[in-house]
Amino acid sequence: MSARILDGKSLAAELRAEIAADAAAFRAAHGRAPGLGVILVGDDPASRSYVTSKQKACAAAGIQSREIALPATASQAEILAAVRQLNEDEATDGVLVQLPLPDSTMEADVLAAVDPAKDVDGFHALNIGRLVQGKPALAPCTPCGVLELLRRVGIPLAGANVVVIGRSQIVGRPLSILLSQKGTDATVTLCHTRTRDLPQHTRAADIVIVAAGRPNTLTANMVKPGAVVVDVGVNRVPDASRASGYRLVGDVDFAAVAARASAITPVPGGVGPLTVAMLLRNTLTAARARLTLPS
Ligand code: NAD
Repeated sequence: MSARILDGKSLAAELRAEIAADAAAFRAAHGRAPGLGVILVGDDPASRSYVTSKQKACAAAGIQSREIALPATASQAEILAAVRQLNEDEATDGVLVQLPLPDSTMEADVLAAVDPAKDVDGFHALNIGRLVQGKPALAPCTPCGVLELLRRVGIPLAGANVVVIGRSQIVGRPLSILLSQKGTDATVTLCHTRTRDLPQHTRAADIVIVAAGRPNTLTANMVKPGAVVVDVGVNRVPDASRASGYRLVGDVDFAAVAARASAITPVPGGVGPLTVAMLLRNTLTAARARLTLPS
């Protein structure tokens, strides 16, 4: 078997065109574009490049973006003041704090300070709580991107046995909640580093979603023939043949697993582009909700 490659890049382009049309309608109705505010602390090149790609995607979709850049030495009080400034800014509908912060011990307090109505990353406890309760919520972008991808390519989820590898707060755990929600109806097994006999779980799965952050976490002998495989991982591995000195790989042994699966996402070009598209969609959702909420 040779798997169908699930092209996240073209799906994201389709989605971004839909969002651009909705953003134009919003602008026509309300006299301003939806707005995203980004806080970037420090000068980590990977964070800078993530922020730049989000800003470019905003511009292409007709979403206004503004940035508050703070030095790596910024105090927690200074970061919180930036969050407050964006929370209070009428033209800012979504607030995003680029992670990781140089001092990761500040992250919990900083994320808790984001106005839940503007929490386009979906990390605020209130939004996670609403998600667990099955209420409308701003949900984390990567899990939403995985679901959107599976829906758009027509992979049925209702009743499917889905194994998620990784239980992080931003990917695995919220993804397991979204998949098991009424209306999506997958049967979910959430695996992690303490899972006994991981291959036994993955071999029973119709769909395996890997978000472990380690190359080759999923190998061919761990996959049922014909299963669908979604690779969320993004890992830099040394590659002397590249000018950068590295290349990006996912968490899946791609070539071998693709020979056994029925469908698989590549890295890069799989889940990543959908994550950015979901950020745009959350910004639009937040913009619409803010304007219909009583102030
Ligand atoms: P994390 O390090 O916070 O969590 C990893 C999880 O995987 C942990 O729960 C751990 O228990 C589990 N795990 C690790 N190795 C395992 C193993 N061998 N067996 C079973 N479980 C294992 O990482 P994260 O923030 O959830 O990100 C996961 C990966 O997804 C990373 O590579 C990250 O770069 C990538 N990511 C991609 C996107 C995207 O848009 N494509 C977005 C976010 C994260």
